[in-house]
Amino acid sequence: MFAKNLKITIAHLYPKLLNIYGDRGNIITLVNRCKWRNIEVTVDSIDAGDNIDEDKYDIYFIGGGQDQQQIQVAGELQKQKEKLFNAAQSNSVFLAICGGYQLLGHYYQPHDADRLEGIGILDAFTVAGKKRFIGNVTAKLLSENTNGELKTLVGFENHSGLTYLQGDTKPIATILTGNGNNGSDKTEGARYKNVFGTYLHGSLLPKNPHFADFLLSLALEKRYGEKIELQKLDDKFEIAAHNSLVNKKY
Ligand code: GLN
Repeated sequence: MFAKNLKITIAHLYPKLLNIYGDRGNIITLVNRCKWRNIEVTVDSIDAGDNIDEDKYDIYFIGGGQDQQQIQVAGELQKQKEKLFNAAQSNSVFLAICGGYQLLGHYYQPHDADRLEGIGILDAFTVAGKKRFIGNVTAKLLSENTNGELKTLVGFENHSGLTYLQGDTKPIATILTGNGNNGSDKTEGARYKNVFGTYLHGSLLPKNPHFADFLLSLALEKRYGEKIELQKLDDKFEIAAHNSLVNKKY
């Protein structure tokens, strides 16, 4: 039995500044996977200078970007820090990609610029490494981060930042191919409550429909206070795209 008249609201944080490698495709995937199920979905772009209504959104998305754009967004996020922190504590879902991910931690220390203060939703920190990690990534999801048949995440990484997790912030997956958080501890991404960060561009969700639905399930549970079964979709093309990339290096 599937619930009727469902709704999900999404805040797309700073899309004009953090949107490299097609990270906007994650929003398109979330919207389509709602529409295909007749779930009403709205997306608000939150731009520089906008004030966030922390009670309005079920999902927050922030994409990746180069150091320059990160500097501007870091300043904006500091102005919204308390609201975003409250949203995370009330189990809103966050998906943050690469540069956006780095800014949800305590700080990002670029190579040749001042340290960028993060908003500390994730107990993590990032320092620029000497080498830029560029290439395909396959990672095995930790069991608590998926409810579908597929157990891997595939995507593309392009970052020099090395991210280290601490405290209650745990990885979302372990690296099978590629580098992930820092190229040394075999972790990829981060999760605290319903806040997810990942280095996977691609964009991530079109080729990882199971993870998209996992995030939608969490967002519905947060909004309606109970687990709601999502109607199954015919994902043959998405799964074929996913499997074509599993353990593909180049
Ligand atoms: N500028 C950051 C880094 O190089 C993030 C890059 C990105 O978002 N792809 O690590």
